[in-house]
Amino acid sequence: MTIFEAVREATGTLKNSGIENPVWEAGLLMGFVLKKDISYVYAHYDNSLSHEDCEKYKDLVRIRANGMPYQYITQNQEFMSLDFFVSSGCLVPRPETEILAEAALSWIKEKNSDAVRVLDIGTGSGAIAVSIAYYAANTVVHAIDISREAIETAKRNAKKHKVNNRIHFIQKDFFGWEPDSPYDIVVSNPPYIPGPEISLLPAGIINYEPVTALDGGPDGLMFYREIAVKINKLLNPEGTVFVEVGAGQARSVSDIFENCGLLTSVYRDLSGTERVVRGDRK
Ligand code: SAM
Ligand code: GLN
Repeated sequence: MTIFEAVREATGTLKNSGIENPVWEAGLLMGFVLKKDISYVYAHYDNSLSHEDCEKYKDLVRIRANGMPYQYITQNQEFMSLDFFVSSGCLVPRPETEILAEAALSWIKEKNSDAVRVLDIGTGSGAIAVSIAYYAANTVVHAIDISREAIETAKRNAKKHKVNNRIHFIQKDFFGWEPDSPYDIVVSNPPYIPGPEISLLPAGIINYEPVTALDGGPDGLMFYREIAVKINKLLNPEGTVFVEVGAGQARSVSDIFENCGLLTSVYRDLSGTERVVRGDRK
């Protein structure tokens, strides 16, 4: 069988199971099997596949057709132009979270100070923490997550991008934790899906992504309230907090932050949805 024939067959299988970009994903999975990038796949369509690669490819296509997000198959997701290793114990970093990382990075650049202390709450794969450390060399980042597997994944990503000497990982429950001293900037993409809505999420999310990464309590807002309760311990007097929010939550989260004395503003994502709430201490 040639690469072309295998990819064509896989495209059909993926299409039949309702996968949105079947051609692209079929090529991507072929690249993963061949340990090459997708442009290699397109440029070598006439090459024949070894029996072993062919069987491996069919297995992966079957797994994808059954609903596993391809990022858990290839164990990789790009975020802020960096490759992140992802495992089933952590959320796949989402493109809209780049809005938060970019807003935080421009705040840090403007600050222009020697050692900016950053806290990332619910670090997951480390997407936000590692990108900040990577793109702003003047940062020292603390990253907390309740999940051992997430922390292990984040550590691996910090090493991969050579910022492990500037990130300190803490495996703790944020609700039972207090920092030794406050930070200049706090960032977080916390779990924010309201508990009752979790079962309504697409199958690719509920069947594969860890529920601890999604469940924001009865109304989805419990992490924002906990940040507000702890704000004086978390943030320096000149400090700023940036949080990602779910669609429709920006007003409620701004209220929570304003009630603890922060000045708030909101950033939209590329689809126009209010996605990040910023809170500045006066
Ligand atoms: N920051 C990553 C990102 O943006 O891709 C992951 C965000 S994910 C939505 C939320 C993370 O919060 C998960 O990794 C989860 O394990 C962590 N988490 C959930 N409950 C927590 C708690 N009580 N304390 C600390 N971290 C928690
Ligand atoms: N963005 C995730 C989703 O699409 C939710 C992540 C979160 O709860 N922070 O389901």
